[in-house]
Amino acid sequence: MSERLTLFVEVVLPIPMAKAFTYRVPFELNDQIQRFVRVIVPFGKSKFYTGIITSISETSPKDFQAKYIEFVLDDEPIIYPAQYSFWQWVANYYLAPIGDVMNAALPSYFKLASETKVILHPDFEEKNVNLTDREILIVDALSVQEELNLSDISQICGVKTVQPIIKRLIDLKVIITREDLSERFSEKKASFIVLEENYKDENLLSNLLEELSKKTKDAGKEKVILTFLHLSQTNQNEFQPIDKKDLIRMGCSESSIKSLVKLQVLRQESLVISRLNYINEFSSELPKLSEKQEVALTQIIDFHSENKTVLLDGVTGSGKTALYMHLIAKTIKEKKQVLFLVPEIALTTQLIDRLAAVFGKQVGVYHSRFNSNERIEIWNKIKNNSSADNKSTDYQIVVGARSSIFLPFNNLGLVIVDEEHESSFKQYEPSPRYNARDMSMVLAQGFKAKVVLGSATPSIETVYKAKEGKFGHVYLTERFSKVEMPEIFVADLKKEKASNQLNGSFSSFLISEIKTALSQNEQVILFQNRRGYNPFWSCEVCQHSPNCVNCDTTLNYHKTKNVLLCHYCGYSTSPMGSCMECGSNRLSMNGFGTERIEDELTLLFPDARIGRMDQDTTRTKNSHQKIINNFQDGNIDILIGTQMVAKGLDFDNVRLVGIIDADMLLKRTDFRAFEKAFQLMSQVAGRAGRRDKRGIVVVQTHQPDHWLIERLIDHDYERFVEFETSERRNYHYPPFYKLIRFTLKHPNREKVENGSQYFGQQLRSIFNERVIGPEYPIIPRINNQYIQEIILKIENEAPLKKVKERLVELTDQFYSVPDFKPIRLTIDVDPA
Ligand code: ADP
Ligand code: ZN
Ligand code: ZN
Repeated sequence: MSERLTLFVEVVLPIPMAKAFTYRVPFELNDQIQRFVRVIVPFGKSKFYTGIITSISETSPKDFQAKYIEFVLDDEPIIYPAQYSFWQWVANYYLAPIGDVMNAALPSYFKLASETKVILHPDFEEKNVNLTDREILIVDALSVQEELNLSDISQICGVKTVQPIIKRLIDLKVIITREDLSERFSEKKASFIVLEENYKDENLLSNLLEELSKKTKDAGKEKVILTFLHLSQTNQNEFQPIDKKDLIRMGCSESSIKSLVKLQVLRQESLVISRLNYINEFSSELPKLSEKQEVALTQIIDFHSENKTVLLDGVTGSGKTALYMHLIAKTIKEKKQVLFLVPEIALTTQLIDRLAAVFGKQVGVYHSRFNSNERIEIWNKIKNNSSADNKSTDYQIVVGARSSIFLPFNNLGLVIVDEEHESSFKQYEPSPRYNARDMSMVLAQGFKAKVVLGSATPSIETVYKAKEGKFGHVYLTERFSKVEMPEIFVADLKKEKASNQLNGSFSSFLISEIKTALSQNEQVILFQNRRGYNPFWSCEVCQHSPNCVNCDTTLNYHKTKNVLLCHYCGYSTSPMGSCMECGSNRLSMNGFGTERIEDELTLLFPDARIGRMDQDTTRTKNSHQKIINNFQDGNIDILIGTQMVAKGLDFDNVRLVGIIDADMLLKRTDFRAFEKAFQLMSQVAGRAGRRDKRGIVVVQTHQPDHWLIERLIDHDYERFVEFETSERRNYHYPPFYKLIRFTLKHPNREKVENGSQYFGQQLRSIFNERVIGPEYPIIPRINNQYIQEIILKIENEAPLKKVKERLVELTDQFYSVPDFKPIRLTIDVDPA
């Protein structure tokens, strides 16, 4: 730029503000300014933030003096214009500040701010890097004071803009942000075998091999070295470390490896497995489709050519994944990107392995639990593989949990949403409270990309759209293996109780089926949707059960730790020997959690090997995978678990699935309760059955004639959906009405009640009978905050944009009342 223009920029900051902020550009930065690059800007008295420029103009703001940008961080935009439009869409739809959307969309490393805390990288050793004086100053400060925020550092160095310095130090692995530390230690490590320095000499190595080949007792060691060399040299990269598991998989013995380590030929090291590296060599072909699958694929492609989203409605094991793979192959052939959304990455290892086997390095996995380096790496690869001059196809296929809708796609061709009915696609806290399934369709629209929603039990909303003709509806009604769906039996708990056949939580029916399975060396899964030992530790005399001190809910007894625990806020206390209300020592245990089931089982089947999978046994990283592997390898006979056992797993040898307490699921706690109950039970039931043999499911209930149970036994999801849909129509729920939920929270009961009365009235003055509440939810107080909820039901045909404009006005009005300012009011559009 030749002339000295005075430029102003709009900058979006990662804070809960609905508007962009205007800053002035110092002349010397004029040339570096462009849309969607990051800048560092001052904010308030002494803070700074990393923001993104969204527009540039020459008009100065009228009513205030704009502050100057301090620094431009990027040479090129970090997001595409399409991303920003998408952010705006999400913000408008969910009534969320654009800053919140930015926060959700960008990895934390992109957003260093004055509050960001850094610490020394745990692996940092000073001798390994050359640091500038200023950098040494920071390192010294951090060795005295464990953690510093960026403002502190700015003072220490006497520089205003420290991000560039911090960025370099993070890249050099000298420091790490506090946020990333916890993630780092959850990195997956494995034992790797490396060649000792000496033996990298070719002569020495061949001499050794000759020695070993002479004696039969050394054959094992010889095999280890040959296998190691084979694997280690396949890449040009000389003698790279080899995962010990791979050696063993290829027939090497653990003891031979050990003795070579002892002989100082090989060395064992624990290294981080990069979850990004897939082995290309194991590539296999696309599965050849069955006739029925072929038909389904053609139908999908036809609907796609009409630009219709497709619901792939296929029973478990019917080959939905096989179809996805064909659609993916087609898309990447067209050089377009694929987004494969899954409810939870941790539960999808089997899926990822299958995709990687076919597509190798083209598959990338993204989720928020990755550490920042990995996230940046993925971000950049995705951003680059769609640019015209980039030849790499790495990460053309992204498998990710909900936050991956915000990745910088530029050339999206296909979106797959697997298990589309799952509520984990919906984010609740923090804002934006978005549903990734719904937003992925908006994202797709921007690219004219195709969409497939897959499920064995699709959501009522999605089925409705398919029935209306908005979506294409494609069915796969039989399992690929042709094995029939499991046979579902009901164990009538009422009857068994009356005839004294009940044994604790177990019906005689279930017990005898477990016996049969065990006697045939087949495995059993027991599902109990409640962790802990005993939800109700209650007094037999006065019925009192101890409550949480912070929440209005009963405490759950956990036997292993011998504590009473609140599942909402984590409060725990030791169990008392007598009732706090009446002093009676007759305390009874009603209800049963997973821990209690485990105890009962140990008594019933003392010889069985029992495993338990719930939040308590899977707290540490990888423990989940360990339990699954143990079960898969046949080291566990009976696996008890919460809904974790229902998701994303495909076992070979499960004969029997038992649902311990179906009654708990047959309560209409909210309008989706029955839908979720059916989906969950049929998903659990789907674990039963071997590749070649029909499985059995036993559902324990006091209501054997309940209509939902009857539909479940018949595997008749379609009729279930029909009935539920008419209920939704009658009672004004989605898919016929749109719900918006307002939640008000404050520690003072009166304040929150007054506030919600006021807000409710305001809403009613506009929306009349469409407003429900305010009401206390089932648990009226959590973590010392009283909670009131108001629901707004809007007809589908209503002008949503106008409705939302009114809502924004009303919330502004609400907060203009001084007394209500401290109340937290959150808005949830389409609550889960
Ligand atoms: P879904 O995703 O509907 O549960 P999958 O695609 O996982 O079904 O298929 C279930 C099982 O059947 C898997 O073990 C899969 O390998 C196998 N399978 C499905 N379709 C094919 C096919 N066309 N060729 C070979 N195996 C298949
Ligand atoms: Zn009592
Ligand atoms: Zn609590």
